[in-house]
Amino acid sequence: MLLDEYNLTYPSVHPGTERTNIKFLSGMPDLKKALFSLDKDLPPRLFVTDNIVASLPPMQDFLSRFDEKGTHGKDSILILETGEENKNIDTVLKIIKFALNKNYGRNLTFVGIGGGVITDMTAFAASIFKRGAKVELVPTTLLAMVDAAIGGKTGCDFDSHKNMIGTFFPASVIYIYPEFVKYLPESQFHSGLGEVIKTALLYSESLYSELKSRKRDVFARKDDIIEKMINTCVRAKANIVEQDFTEQNVRRELNLGHTFGHALETISGLGVVPHGDAVAWGISRALELGCKLGLCHKAYRDEVFNTLKDYGWENGPIHSVLLSKGKSNEEIAKELIDAMKKDKKNVNDNIRFVLQTGPCATLIKEVPENKVLEVLQ
Ligand code: NAD
Repeated sequence: MLLDEYNLTYPSVHPGTERTNIKFLSGMPDLKKALFSLDKDLPPRLFVTDNIVASLPPMQDFLSRFDEKGTHGKDSILILETGEENKNIDTVLKIIKFALNKNYGRNLTFVGIGGGVITDMTAFAASIFKRGAKVELVPTTLLAMVDAAIGGKTGCDFDSHKNMIGTFFPASVIYIYPEFVKYLPESQFHSGLGEVIKTALLYSESLYSELKSRKRDVFARKDDIIEKMINTCVRAKANIVEQDFTEQNVRRELNLGHTFGHALETISGLGVVPHGDAVAWGISRALELGCKLGLCHKAYRDEVFNTLKDYGWENGPIHSVLLSKGKSNEEIAKELIDAMKKDKKNVNDNIRFVLQTGPCATLIKEVPENKVLEVLQ
């Protein structure tokens, strides 16, 4: 019998996390102008980036302001090794140790400049440093601009499982310079398009039809279509995140393609299949699963399959990267299912999927394992 109860109420998670200001900036990124706390009254900043981003032309003027110890006035910079294989707790602790060694207090602002690996880890480090410090982000890949940097999910991988540790901790400012996209290698640009197509299928029929009709312009990275993609995706994601910050309902839709995609990333070895490419393959599996369950219209599935193929993504039951591992189809499917069972989004033994019945028509459903197996072999 309940004798008494009372509720505690709290302010937002952490001061400075109540809102995110997203700045879209055109032209050549001028980081020194946007980011340096030269004004003595401003709190210090710790910039975190990786060695590839640090080698990009737009970064050179900015980096030249730091001395050989990575210091500029009260500000510092830490340059990490690039890659998903470094997205682990050791690297997060390295960021924190660096900040502690510099004697920064909790008035420090962490600034992550890079792809999703850097923005996820920098924001995670900020969220646990002295119980929480501010974070600002400068996403430099298409994928980080349209997805990873937006919405306050932070974290790192653990024991070869994707994003198993992390927090919800939004950045206070996000600086988006579409110009950075021009420097991306083709493979990374292509990966970013995976999250763009996901968002278009979920929320924007007009972006989806432009992706189909303007494929050449997309691959030529024409300014107007790049800006449209980024703008549409950021606004769509921001709208969903505002409604459901901690992913209790509508935000789950954003995981379209991710249950299959994360499993593919896990069993192929983190970093082998770029995240957005894994998501694009995952979308094909999710639509196929929807058809098997009698939920998705076959015409819609065929239409999306054509687009995925046209953009160079796989849409078959077994991703080619897994075929080269010398395992039987049954073994591969079983490994994928085992990886899916570890997904954070599950609630019991059934695996939870984001499915679609048609364009911008999405539902979440727990599906028994035997049905899932049918679309993996
Ligand atoms: P990434 O961060 O590994 O960057 C890809 C590569 O591009 C890296 O080698 C990087 O150094 C390089 N790079 C970055 N900017 C560049 C530029 N302008 N020009 C040339 N090279 C550049 O990968 P990503 O695709 O940006 O992000 C993937 C990560 O994002 C995954 O770990 C994924 O889990 C995470 N993610 C997080 C969320 C979220 O909500 N937090 C959402 C989606 C994805």
